[in-house]
Amino acid sequence: MHTNTAIPCPSCRQTMAQIILPSKTNGTITLDLCYACQGIWFDEFESVQLAPAGVLELFHALHAHHDEARQPWSNTLQCPRCNERLIEGRDVTKNGKFSYRRCLQKHGRFNSFGAFFQEKGFVRQLTNPEIDRLAKQIQIVRCAGCGAPVDIRTQNVCSHCQAPIVVLDADAVQKAAAGYKQAADRQVNLDPMAMADALLENERNKRRMAELTAKERRTAPFESDITDLVVGGIGLIWNVLKR
Ligand SMILES: [Zn+2]
Ligand SMILES: [Zn+2]
Ligand SMILES: [Zn+2]
Repeated sequence: MHTNTAIPCPSCRQTMAQIILPSKTNGTITLDLCYACQGIWFDEFESVQLAPAGVLELFHALHAHHDEARQPWSNTLQCPRCNERLIEGRDVTKNGKFSYRRCLQKHGRFNSFGAFFQEKGFVRQLTNPEIDRLAKQIQIVRCAGCGAPVDIRTQNVCSHCQAPIVVLDADAVQKAAAGYKQAADRQVNLDPMAMADALLENERNKRRMAELTAKERRTAPFESDITDLVVGGIGLIWNVLKR
């Protein structure tokens, strides 16, 4: 069923980028991504076949595109194989709930990058004291489960999909990196809160840039007001692992 022909993004309908990654069966797997919508299309069974090294290469690809503007998903998502409307599905992992969109004809599913990392165990839930601390500096974070904005001053779960507030888990990424290339002998000690601080600094810089641009355009920098604790952390971790 799976072909290597480029397919349209379920949300914006632009042609998706294709990346080839190692699979668990020592072969390769082709994934379809939209960087602007921050979504991945998986044909049926593709996700489970992705090798740990493949996940790291995926990080690399996402990091290479981290400066690109993120656009919200459209209300109606279409299956890239049959054009039928995708329906929402929910799943529960030990890292909390996440949601995805799937084709009823079993052609596959569309995941946000955040939901994908949650599914793969690369995120951890923030504790209530951590959320309180973060809320003093940032107000709105992107729900990793569904992409909706969550005001962490008043909420500690997403009001749309009930997903918890999660952050990219440095430890989990390091574990995946162990045994991959020469990463095993690299001791990377990333304190989670230090990472959150660095993330905030990144976000502040991005926001300043966005505000400058918005002033020029005279539009509100709405999307840039949302802090992405999962995808935003990729760059930090990637830079540490590469050292
Ligand atoms: Zn798209
Ligand atoms: Zn379909
Ligand atoms: Zn949500």
